[in-house]
Amino acid sequence: MNIIGDAKAVRSYDAIVIGSGISGGWAAKELCEKGLKTLVLERGRDVRHIVDYPSATLNPWDFPHRNRMPDAFDQENPIATKCYALDEGTKQYFVKDAEHPYVQEKPFDWIRGYQVGGKSLIWARQTQRWSRFDFEANARDGIAVDWPIRYEDIAPWYSHVEKFVGISGNKDGLETLPDGEFLKPWELNCLEKHIQKRVAESYRDRHVIIGRCAHLTEPQQIHYDQGRAQCQARHLCYRGCPYGGYFSSNSSTLPWAAKTGNLTLRPFSVVHSIIYDDAKGKATGVRVVDTNTKQMTEYYARVIFVNAACLNTNLILLNSTSKRFPNGLGNDSGLLGHYVAFHNYRGSLNATYDGFPDGYFYGRRPTTAFMPNFRNVQKQEMDFQRGYMVAFSASRSGWQRGAGTEGFGAEFKDKLSDPGGWHVYMMMQGETIPKYDNHVRLSKDQKDSWGIPQLVTSVGYDDNDVKSMKDFLEQGADMLEKAGCKTISPYDDHRNPGLDIHEMGGVRMGRDPKTSLLNGHNQLHLVKNVFVTDGAAMTSTGTQNPSITFMALTARAADYAVSELKKKNL
Ligand SMILES: Cc1cc2nc3c(=O)[nH]c(=O)nc-3n(C[C@H](O)[C@H](O)[C@H](O)COP(=O)(O)OP(=O)(O)OC[C@H]3O[C@@H](n4cnc5c(N)ncnc54)[C@H](O)[C@@H]3O)c2cc1C
Ligand code: SF4
Repeated sequence: MNIIGDAKAVRSYDAIVIGSGISGGWAAKELCEKGLKTLVLERGRDVRHIVDYPSATLNPWDFPHRNRMPDAFDQENPIATKCYALDEGTKQYFVKDAEHPYVQEKPFDWIRGYQVGGKSLIWARQTQRWSRFDFEANARDGIAVDWPIRYEDIAPWYSHVEKFVGISGNKDGLETLPDGEFLKPWELNCLEKHIQKRVAESYRDRHVIIGRCAHLTEPQQIHYDQGRAQCQARHLCYRGCPYGGYFSSNSSTLPWAAKTGNLTLRPFSVVHSIIYDDAKGKATGVRVVDTNTKQMTEYYARVIFVNAACLNTNLILLNSTSKRFPNGLGNDSGLLGHYVAFHNYRGSLNATYDGFPDGYFYGRRPTTAFMPNFRNVQKQEMDFQRGYMVAFSASRSGWQRGAGTEGFGAEFKDKLSDPGGWHVYMMMQGETIPKYDNHVRLSKDQKDSWGIPQLVTSVGYDDNDVKSMKDFLEQGADMLEKAGCKTISPYDDHRNPGLDIHEMGGVRMGRDPKTSLLNGHNQLHLVKNVFVTDGAAMTSTGTQNPSITFMALTARAADYAVSELKKKNL
């Protein structure tokens, strides 16, 4: 890490990246590899690979509360504790509610990870490419605005990212979910295979596949070069993985960027706003509040990548006002903060299955079965727009009891070794339609601890989301019934938007500066040396897990930015 002095020259870089999470890590890697002296500004503390994963190898009985959170913590953190991944082993990677307040005009569960690595430490690592249908859907259906890119524009960048990250998956040959550069796949268990077979027999357009995920099932030289090793199927990933078995910025992109000698990483640095120079007609740097000293310092660069995760990226741009841009950077259209969308996770089903009494599975597979979207793919055919991806897993209920099981003596041991009956859990990941009304803005009167306006979230469901969920619950029940499942119970959990943790939009890409903020290279139409390559850039949400697309967009934009810098266009 460089020592940061006071002189302006010492605070000047070729590039600044705001945020060190999944997309910021990729921006850092690509820009550093291409020779740019790059400053990565991260609001949270440093988390070093391996040494800062205190719970990675603990057993349930090593934790004071057997890996469960005490009631007092739940009561103090009603938002964060809704996230399934937060427990005693992972709590250090989640934002505590009281420390980072925001204003919920409509209920919105904003789950955040403020540290070096961001949410890359705690993501579920599911990675599916978008298909041509996803990039074409807006134009076809008149949703939002047309994407300024197509699948062919991003496909080589998916490959570039996949090879480095290491994605396990099966080449399924589906047009709706293009294949990538895969390491060997995980395996469906016997009941999942049975459901796969029954679904294939019953529907021509529905395909069950094993999940594609960012795990090293067979590490290649490029992964060993990163210092990573084979995934051990422990599924303790959310605690940080000492093997580097899954992809995180901490295990992969950031150390890779550091190895070039071009990286300066500055934790405890909240970016307040981007500095715009009216005379030069471009951004010149950023204002940063040191979270320890609360002192504000400016840093300068020729190009700025904003990767603070969707809503914080919106916040930073909205807070970046100047004479030229009184309503936020690049915001002549007034659309900054609007068309925020997310994934609809409300619907799920539980079922049992009588059979496969001698069917077992070994280890903790870090992925699940998936079914790509089959609604409105080739044409509009339902009474709702777009569709949903289905994820499901089958397991033996006795083996799910875990450390919380109570008991004593021989009877207890017998109970623990009984695998129990089969249980299936199925859930949806639904596309939501970006709408002007679903927006975020700055609070006029409430500020955070660093004097930055708090974010107001005004994002909700609509009728389309409810219709799509009802369809999923009907179709899910139908598929489970056809597979011979019993006691099928569909469920709408009425969860708030946000808990999907796939927030997208607000700084959308498009072709026209009047209707979008970013062009086809993730470059602000009106401030060419500022790039936004996290979820904020998304013009629609698709039904896929989004982060692999953020990574591919980032690598693509970094390549473009460097070529523009070389041509002296920035
Ligand atoms: C439990 C869970 C499961 C998930 N599962 C999946 C999955 O299976 N597949 C998938 O694709 N996605 C998944 N996600 C979502 C995924 O984590 C995000 O899409 C991804 O991390 C977004 O990358 P990002 O770079 O935009 O943001 P982040 O990774 O969140 O990084 C943003 C960084 O910016 C920093 N920052 C914020 N504001 C500022 C500021 N003002 N100044 C300086 N720094 C700032 C933050 O501290 C953070 O480090 C999951 C998330 C969670 C929590
Ligand atoms: S499942 Fe793989 S990636 Fe996850 S903690 Fe275990 S070894 Fe690491």
